[in-house]
Amino acid sequence: SVFEHCQFDNHEAVYFCRDEASGLCAIIALHSTLRGPAMGGTRMVPYASDEEALTDVLRLSRGMTFKNVMAGLPFGGGKAVIIGDPAKDKSAALLQAYAVEIERLQGRFVTGEDVGIGMADVQAMSSVTAHIRGVPDGGAGDPSPFTASGVYDGIVAAVRHRLDRGSVEGIHVLVQGLGAVGMRLAERLFAAGARLSVTDTNPNRVEEARERFAAEAVDIASCCAADVDVYAPCALGATLDAATIPTLKASVVAGGANNQLATAEDGRRLHERGILYAPDYVINAGGVISTAHAGPSFDMGRMLDHVGRIAGTLEDIFRLSKAEGLPTSVIADRLARKRLADAAATTR
Ligand code: NAD
Repeated sequence: SVFEHCQFDNHEAVYFCRDEASGLCAIIALHSTLRGPAMGGTRMVPYASDEEALTDVLRLSRGMTFKNVMAGLPFGGGKAVIIGDPAKDKSAALLQAYAVEIERLQGRFVTGEDVGIGMADVQAMSSVTAHIRGVPDGGAGDPSPFTASGVYDGIVAAVRHRLDRGSVEGIHVLVQGLGAVGMRLAERLFAAGARLSVTDTNPNRVEEARERFAAEAVDIASCCAADVDVYAPCALGATLDAATIPTLKASVVAGGANNQLATAEDGRRLHERGILYAPDYVINAGGVISTAHAGPSFDMGRMLDHVGRIAGTLEDIFRLSKAEGLPTSVIADRLARKRLADAAATTR
């Protein structure tokens, strides 16, 4: 039953949207609007089943609530998934039908790009509904550089905390996924003197990283076991599980991907192995911060300052984790739930 779904976390509403004419099949999950409209991207993925799509959207939308609250944004959390192959199934009619669904929610859900949904798609949708963020007008545009920037700062903070090193110079980092976030992250790390290993399902991206950053290519299947200091997951989620965690050689896990832990138990597994994990929804908040700042009074300096505070939040989590002997994932969830409870108390 949808209501007994293991990822159901008292979500406020879940909408199943279907448009026969355009082939649209989408699920929009609003996890919380306690602190403001539910904000989160829309992804388009050829899920193997509706069940897989529902699991993804329920987890991702809860993650957005936690991400937005930990980033101090006046937004709740939501997410949407369009079921389909973006290369084959995406059309102007499908994007328009989806935008109509967003409009129907009258601003309770604000969305933007994510995996499989790019800037051009977001721009096309913005002609149908105003509840879109991340379009070039009125903001910083593409959020990926700001996500990458927050992840870079987070890696520096984690390396300082766990390896007692003041910079990433000479630190060996595996970047898994060289897309909009991963490639920029690799660029920053390389410029700061880090040594890079990389992996991607797209061989052209691996080749680009080899040429530009003297990166070493690592096999996808066994990449988690690479002999590196930092593992930066920047592809899809759930790469950290009962099978991969025992093989990790990295002492830090810090990357841009959402939902890096397959289950909550995996945060504990990392902690027990002495691996410092930068909670995904804290370290990868740069993009959502940039989109949240968009609007008529957009101020690039103020937005960049806000992205710059991600590292401080992570440092607080690392310190509390050390002091209390608890996993960083547990500390982050606790802080997020506390802030939500505070918001609920003030709206009562
Ligand atoms: P993207 O689609 O631009 O890049 C993903 C890259 O990963 C691609 O190069 C793809 O070929 C590669 N890839 C896919 N499966 C892989 C696998 N199994 N092994 C190795 N590489 C694989 O996406 P992105 O915008 O860079 O986002 C990457 C991750 O970061 C996603 O999990 C996304 O949800 C998360 N994220 C992105 C942003 C943002 O601002 N773009 C913000 C927060 C979180």
